[in-house]
Amino acid sequence: MRLDTFCKYLKMCELENIIPPLTVFVSQYSKEIGIQYASCPSSPHTFASESQLYITMHIFKKVSDLQAWVAQERAEGKRIGFAPTMGALHDGHMELIRMSGLAGHRTVASIFVNPTQFNDPKDLEKYPRTPEKDILLLHDNGCDAVFMPSVEEIYPPGLDVSIDLDFRQLDEVMEGFFRPGHFKGMATVVHRLLDIVRPDSLYMGQKDFQQLTIVRDMIRQMHLTVELVMCPTMREADGLAMSSRNLRLSADMRAIAPVIFQTLQWAAETLQTHMASAIQTEAMQRLEAAGLRPEYFDIVDGISLLPVERWEDSTFIVACTAAFAGEVRLIDNIVVKS
Ligand code: AMP
Repeated sequence: MRLDTFCKYLKMCELENIIPPLTVFVSQYSKEIGIQYASCPSSPHTFASESQLYITMHIFKKVSDLQAWVAQERAEGKRIGFAPTMGALHDGHMELIRMSGLAGHRTVASIFVNPTQFNDPKDLEKYPRTPEKDILLLHDNGCDAVFMPSVEEIYPPGLDVSIDLDFRQLDEVMEGFFRPGHFKGMATVVHRLLDIVRPDSLYMGQKDFQQLTIVRDMIRQMHLTVELVMCPTMREADGLAMSSRNLRLSADMRAIAPVIFQTLQWAAETLQTHMASAIQTEAMQRLEAAGLRPEYFDIVDGISLLPVERWEDSTFIVACTAAFAGEVRLIDNIVVKS
């Protein structure tokens, strides 16, 4: 039950003079930040002791607490699904949670805004943080545990968490070209989180296709045993890929932004009959003509991320793009052939 629904229920119980069952979503975190009491300030039903609470989602801030819970779940024969995020969650992220739940896993989500993958400190500062909303969303989508560590918990002084991998061209093209260093930071934190959680399955979105490709390469190079699951991109009704950045779009730019996915769809349909280089040039023109500022529009092999020229050149082809809509940088992609 949602926390706010539960609070309404408590209020109703109070009016009807019914004693409600002590089944409530609660967590260390929500108690600390006061969600529970802020949401139902007039309820006389305070919770006498933690042992009376039926906890439906755990929130951990410490590695050791999370690991103790994971060990207990494993001892009961459960398998663990893991979805790393940076918070400011929306329905796109929830697809990862739902897919893990559907696979029968106990689901762990992490919320950690990783400082090492931001090349601009202002971006890190501006990154939206909505922990209360995130917790409710995760709870309502069947997440079992949320890991919300501090920077010191992930990068403890004295512990070397760096990984020394050569991603070849994978982290140099497309996003890697425009955001140097970004993928090294991303791979380091994903590796650190995998080392902490030790999940059976790792859930990541197709939305960040290059990120997922690099994580797949890291898993291969390091012989990690985790299964990587690619979750489809969740979109708004007009095709715009869901992103926390969409909220920052002006009304004008929000109206234009669906052109990104329309152009990707056009490219996917056209590759069977035209050369990729010609499509890329026209796609950039289409995005510009719509009022966007595209950085790249690339048609690549889905594993090597090397350019593909013709439909026959690869069995797995993806078109990827990044474009500014006003000040907001949006990325999207489409699987052309798989
Ligand atoms: P982020 O919090 O932006 O680092 O994203 C965390 C995870 O959610 C990544 O694996 C993303 O690819 C995934 N994700 C973000 N947006 C979407 C979306 N619209 N549809 C599906 N997955 C998404």
